[in-house]
Amino acid sequence: MTTATSAPPMIRAAGVNKFFGDLHVLKDINLEVPKGQVVVVLGPSGSGKSTLCRAINRLEPINSGEISVDGQPLPAEGKALAALRAEVGMVFQSFNLFAHKTIVENVMLAPVKVRKVGQAEARKMAMELLDRVGIANQSQKYPAQLSGGQQQRAAIARALAMKPKVMLFDEPTSALDPEMVQEVLDTMTGLAKEGMTMLVVTHEMGFARRAANRVVFMSDGEIVEDATPDDFFTKPKSDRAKDFLGKIL
Ligand code: ADP
Ligand code: MG
Repeated sequence: MTTATSAPPMIRAAGVNKFFGDLHVLKDINLEVPKGQVVVVLGPSGSGKSTLCRAINRLEPINSGEISVDGQPLPAEGKALAALRAEVGMVFQSFNLFAHKTIVENVMLAPVKVRKVGQAEARKMAMELLDRVGIANQSQKYPAQLSGGQQQRAAIARALAMKPKVMLFDEPTSALDPEMVQEVLDTMTGLAKEGMTMLVVTHEMGFARRAANRVVFMSDGEIVEDATPDDFFTKPKSDRAKDFLGKIL
């Protein structure tokens, strides 16, 4: 239970509904992620996982309910939205790096443009972040010269450059060759250990077991289970979760 004196959850979704036309894709979603927690979102394709991530960042408007980040309700638009969105880092399946900029320039871009950080300081910070994700030696290359795993680590560094309070990951390893999955998961595990609040959509069950504090299982637009990884994997309650686990494990 929360009390008046406790910190607000880092992410809070309350009674969130989202429709695409007649399609009800988020059904009364209630979710709280406390500061420092790692929540893995699992569920079949089409269950609403990406839409939930996008709604948390307001890349997708919602039809009803409330979403707040660190106690601040998400503003609908304008400067206030841009400021709040900067606090939520997002990493997608596709890396979306700027092809005509070097890796270090990709990481510098948002701090310089949005946070008005000076070039020298932005470069120093970008190099520190590239070091943290293990690709400082790739900083002068262009995205196409890097492996998929290195590009995704660059994308993580780019998101971290805005000093987000929360990181959202939407299937960050799904587009990678198998041998590159682990280096990206290791980078994410490192972030988790440093205390970053993370919401991670993934099909990597090993990561869910090892790194998650909680597993949220979605099916057909609903949160069907919200449990510890141990409980979810060893004693799923719903038929839908049992069915899902039966197919992937
Ligand atoms: P997941 O990430 O779990 O695979 P999504 O959030 O991408 O699921 O999609 C949830 C549902 O919403 C699916 O039925 C999908 O087809 C639908 N959907 C997603 N984006 C759109 C869109 N822009 N327009 C219409 N329907 C969409
Ligand atoms: Mg998705």
